[in-house]
Amino acid sequence: MKTNLLGYPRIGSKRELKKSSEAYWKHDISLENHLQNAAKIRQDNWTYQHQLGVDLIPSNDFSLYDQVLDLTLTLGCIPERYKDVTLKDNPLELYYAMARGIQKEGLDIIAMEMTKWFDTNYHFIVPEFSKNQTFELLNLKAVNEFKEALELGIKTKPILIGPVTFLLLGKETESNFHRIDLLDKLLPVYFQLVEKLIDEGAEYIQFDEPCLTTNLSVKEQEAITKTYTKLAEAFPKLKIILANYFDCYGDNLETVLKLPVHALHLDLVRCQLQLDDILNAEIFNTNTILSLGIIDGRNIWKNDFEKSLKHIKKATAVLGKDKVWIASSCSLLHSPIDLDLETNEQNLPLEVKQWLAFAKQKVQELVQLKALVINPNSDENIVKLKANKHAILNKSTSKLIHDESVKSRVSKLTPQDSSRQSVFKQRQSQQKSILNLPLFPTTTIGSFPQTKTVRSWRSKFKKGDISQTEYDQLIQDEIEDTIRFQESIGLDVLVHGEFERNDMVEYFGEQLNGFAFTSFGWVQSYGSRCVKPPVVFGDVSRTHPMTVNWTAYAQSLTDVPVKGMLTGPVTILQWSFVRNDQPRATTCKQIALAIRDEVLDLESAGVKVIQIDEPAIREGLPLRKEDWKAYLDWAIESFKISACGVADSTQIHTHMCYSEFNDIIDSVAALDADVITIETSRSKMELLDAFVDYKYPNEIGPGVYDIHSPRIPNSEEIELLLKKACNLLPIEHIWVNPDCGLKTRDWPETKEALTHLVNTAKKLRAEFQIEA
Ligand code: GLN
Ligand code: ZN
Repeated sequence: MKTNLLGYPRIGSKRELKKSSEAYWKHDISLENHLQNAAKIRQDNWTYQHQLGVDLIPSNDFSLYDQVLDLTLTLGCIPERYKDVTLKDNPLELYYAMARGIQKEGLDIIAMEMTKWFDTNYHFIVPEFSKNQTFELLNLKAVNEFKEALELGIKTKPILIGPVTFLLLGKETESNFHRIDLLDKLLPVYFQLVEKLIDEGAEYIQFDEPCLTTNLSVKEQEAITKTYTKLAEAFPKLKIILANYFDCYGDNLETVLKLPVHALHLDLVRCQLQLDDILNAEIFNTNTILSLGIIDGRNIWKNDFEKSLKHIKKATAVLGKDKVWIASSCSLLHSPIDLDLETNEQNLPLEVKQWLAFAKQKVQELVQLKALVINPNSDENIVKLKANKHAILNKSTSKLIHDESVKSRVSKLTPQDSSRQSVFKQRQSQQKSILNLPLFPTTTIGSFPQTKTVRSWRSKFKKGDISQTEYDQLIQDEIEDTIRFQESIGLDVLVHGEFERNDMVEYFGEQLNGFAFTSFGWVQSYGSRCVKPPVVFGDVSRTHPMTVNWTAYAQSLTDVPVKGMLTGPVTILQWSFVRNDQPRATTCKQIALAIRDEVLDLESAGVKVIQIDEPAIREGLPLRKEDWKAYLDWAIESFKISACGVADSTQIHTHMCYSEFNDIIDSVAALDADVITIETSRSKMELLDAFVDYKYPNEIGPGVYDIHSPRIPNSEEIELLLKKACNLLPIEHIWVNPDCGLKTRDWPETKEALTHLVNTAKKLRAEFQIEA
């Protein structure tokens, strides 16, 4: 029996890679220095895993920016537009140009596109394929890292993203072909790489094919069969590990069971169902090893050893001990690194901390589980099992977690709680008469610039350098300035600016029961960007209003309506580490009820427009289509629980960004928000098509200002976008707003851009009123 680690975080436990990358980009450190920092992280990781005694230690799981980009470069798949960068002598110049774009010495080339890695919050760089795409082995990163570990006396298991997943992750840059047709050209280059690894002494190679969790066509399944049959033929001595994770194999299982691979990996955290299918399958080759992905790579909870041992026993009873490996469910890339660094008990109470395991601790668990199987009766192992049982039991009964009043409130929810009193048309006329808005009403998405100064108030306040009164006064002054600015340019629905918020999820989590926070629980999101998700460990409830003071203060300054700003339940859930002892749907409904209370308090305080942001609804979609409906049902219900307590005359907005709405547009409509604002400016309104084809019934604000770029749009561009929207939607449904919040922009550009936006709306208003 071996322990099998599918990958390890590479940012360093104190985000050393982030700091090194950013310093290198700013020319604060040399290339050599940067590469040394990176090598240190790799070597520390290997040494740690080796000392603990992990059997299959991963290599090539490190990346300076992104593992898909590494492979793209390895296979020589470089888009034409970078051809002039290739000539430069610094090897990283091209790499970072592809990742981040390049603007220097006469070059001005945009970056490659980025998108989410399956259902995680990690973003990879999307490979680009042309019809006549060729491949060549350009880079030996995987080989070099294998050799680097070997020099430390550690023989690793290199990881390669499999060829089928690599092709499917990419996009075609021209029509008339499908990228899967490139397989025959791609395989020989993979084979060259594999041969080089074997030459250096690699015995095992892990091929990651997470596309196997998705619904594959017959042709794509055949591509899998072809790849691994050929690979096994070409390298009969190579021990191929086929790794799929994040969900079941679904109906790809039959294809996979027939493959001539050394070991097959199953994500047992996400897919317990198929363990039986595999163990009972007659076609499962008795020589194949089953790698049981039992340590959760996607969440932060301690492993329940007793439960894991049951799974392992079940598998070994059928396959025998030497045909079962104990593994992490997926790469630990998606977990924070070291729980031992967490010492702030106010943010993370000791009682909660004992329920957790981060990457370092997960590796210990992996090794410990094997010890428990091999040597269950040693004194040491008996004590360890007992301690684990104790922590698991403590968690299941802790008073910190369980709040009967919250549970009973969720159980008493009725369909009425998630539906508005009247249909949209009736609400719309009431809202019209109360709000008295013009044609093409203008608004923003909520946040205004989070300047260094604003952030410094928060940190001074947290450190105790300024008092609550002083802090409140500073925020109030900033709100007042922002209200005055919005009035001065003539926006129709104002916002307070969200200056009091560090982050749209953390701000609410910090005020709700059931949430904890880490100090170093960073997870890579993309490149050097990391996020620190809150931990939802217990039943969620609200003890006091969270936003009412600020919004009510803003409203007291003006007669123009001020919009209350909240983060929706699905987004709070999606961007947190969520408890695993009850269905996500239940946790989401608890959060929804807390937000509902806030919505009602805002309404009582006289706020007539309330926005509930749900930018993460789409990314929560399960990987397999057959699971979409169940998710969308509870996600929609949760949003509506939070939104539907209000009177017809209160206008509910929602906001979503980075979204392809085509395949979920009916669910977006089912949210029944009075107004939805979306990101459309970059795609030149193409993202609107889904709403047009569907004849979206409610009001809609297609973004006309790309806030992700410092560029200030001029009035002509805004007018062009708006006129496009007018051709597509009923004009009385159209709102005018930016794509998203303005927190990352600075004031001068924000002022100029919003002035153009409002003036353009006024101009169009005048034109259309004359026509009418
Ligand atoms: N209201 C938030 C803001 O304006 C929305 C952010 C988001 O959609 N990601 O910043
Ligand atoms: Zn947004």
